[in-house]
Amino acid sequence: MRTIEEAALEASTCTRCRLSQGRTQVVYGVGDPNADLMFIGEGPGFHEDKQGEPFVGPAGQLLNQVLGEIGLRREQVYINNVVMCRPPGNRDPLPDEIDACKPWLDESIELIDPSVVVTLGNWATRFVLGPRVSISRVRGQRFPWNRRTVIPTFHPAAILHGGGQASKQMEALRSDFQEIARALAERPQPVEEQLGLF
Ligand code: URA
Repeated sequence: MRTIEEAALEASTCTRCRLSQGRTQVVYGVGDPNADLMFIGEGPGFHEDKQGEPFVGPAGQLLNQVLGEIGLRREQVYINNVVMCRPPGNRDPLPDEIDACKPWLDESIELIDPSVVVTLGNWATRFVLGPRVSISRVRGQRFPWNRRTVIPTFHPAAILHGGGQASKQMEALRSDFQEIARALAERPQPVEEQLGLF
């Protein structure tokens, strides 16, 4: 297997779909290559396209905030998106764009090998759980997926565009992050850690 840096380098010149024509740059995932927790969002927005890093705009600030509330910094997790190039005008990614980007995202999941995957919003959740699921029905629950646990939750941008910090959705997001913290605490530890050797 190659490294995540090698995969990111190859992805940086990708022209597999039309989104390559309007992007400033490919926004590959960021974070700890050994993270046990991975987030999957929808796709880069204006700020991400300019800076080349996922979740650096307002939605990213909210993600950082709720991560902080469970005692985590973004450098300790891995963050990626269903599509790695900005859809024009922040429109939803199209099915063929998601299909074209899938090998990059699939590979990043294999290389990071997280035990818990959190899908943010409908697009990421459908990527994992299938095209007909709706985020409001499945959020906060745990689903087994390829030896991993998937926990869907609301996309932070939906909260910013909805009721904001005082909303019911925000309360749900906070409660889902508590579930994420519990899933992380309960995950099987590598044998060396169980024995206290390291
Ligand atoms: N929204 C997303 O889904 N991903 C980002 O990287 C930024 C905003």
